Amino acid sequence: MSAVGNILSMIKSLSAAEKRELKMMLLENASATMSDMESFMTDERFAGGMVCPHCGCLHVVRNGHQEGNGKQRYLCRDCGKSFDITSNSIVSGTHKGLDVWERYIVCMMQGLSLRKTAEICEIHRNTAFNWRHKILDALQDIEDNVVLNGIVEADETFFAISYKGNHSNGGSFTMPRKPHKRGKEIHTRGLSKEQVCVACAVNRSGKSIGKVSNLGRISTKNVDGVLGDRIDENSTLVTDEMNAYVKFALNRGINLVQVKGGKSKKGIYNVQRVNSYHSSLSKFMRGFNGVATKYLNGYLAWHNFMKYSKHTDAERKQILLRRVLTLPKKVVCKEISNRGALAFAV
Ligand SMILES: [Zn+2]
Repeated sequence: MSAVGNILSMIKSLSAAEKRELKMMLLENASATMSDMESFMTDERFAGGMVCPHCGCLHVVRNGHQEGNGKQRYLCRDCGKSFDITSNSIVSGTHKGLDVWERYIVCMMQGLSLRKTAEICEIHRNTAFNWRHKILDALQDIEDNVVLNGIVEADETFFAISYKGNHSNGGSFTMPRKPHKRGKEIHTRGLSKEQVCVACAVNRSGKSIGKVSNLGRISTKNVDGVLGDRIDENSTLVTDEMNAYVKFALNRGINLVQVKGGKSKKGIYNVQRVNSYHSSLSKFMRGFNGVATKYLNGYLAWHNFMKYSKHTDAERKQILLRRVLTLPKKVVCKEISNRGALAFAV
């Protein structure tokens, strides 16, 4: 008999009073882990004191506990709205304990499939899907603030457009082209508007940028759209011989070194790091069953965070948990699947 089986048969032999005692003990333990995460969230989110998440006012009082889950409620004396520590955050309105979110993040860090994750966290598969995208949103917010310094290598890479996940949006979506016949390869010479261009840059200390910039060939404006403001003006930018970067570096006053693509070098400068970033990225993306273009930025941020940054796994978990719990942004599930196919709109 399994350990759990043994325990269950032992429980059956307990008296009614002993069963009550056991039940109380288990409930206490459950709420103890729960309150660990709740106090973590309170500490992280309201470090400077309780602030109303609706109006930002400090005039806040305790307002009893929520029925069912026992969560502390608060009332804002200014706007008159009530809230709890999760209100107006990514984890609000999900009816799941914060411990489930913590478990979910661990599953995601281990690269588990949505099906497996849903099973472990005991949530519906659609919930697992929505949570993944809420977390990827929070992560993009971190990644969007990464600024590269020192020697920065930049080069773009391409992904075929995928309209996956747009067909169920209540008939409002029309394919902008005829669907490809199954098994038939797309034969397009050179770059076409069916290729999503991702502008990438890496430096030597593990910082990276990867973001959808445009369709087809990249222009100076497209480069600037992603890398502008995010490359320190004292850095040296290293690229292959692409004209778009010349004007970009000139406009931004950044020192530029251009090498002939591939493996060639110019003194200490080369583009080998950005090349290996591209292979790491394409290997990572192959691990998913085709990523819809509208979600590509999220997966790029996920790759950079998990595969390129030099944090330890424990640090990653802490960073992610902190971000997910403190980002003042409510994401409505319906908005996730309703995103436009080419939401980056360039
Ligand atoms: Zn308020």
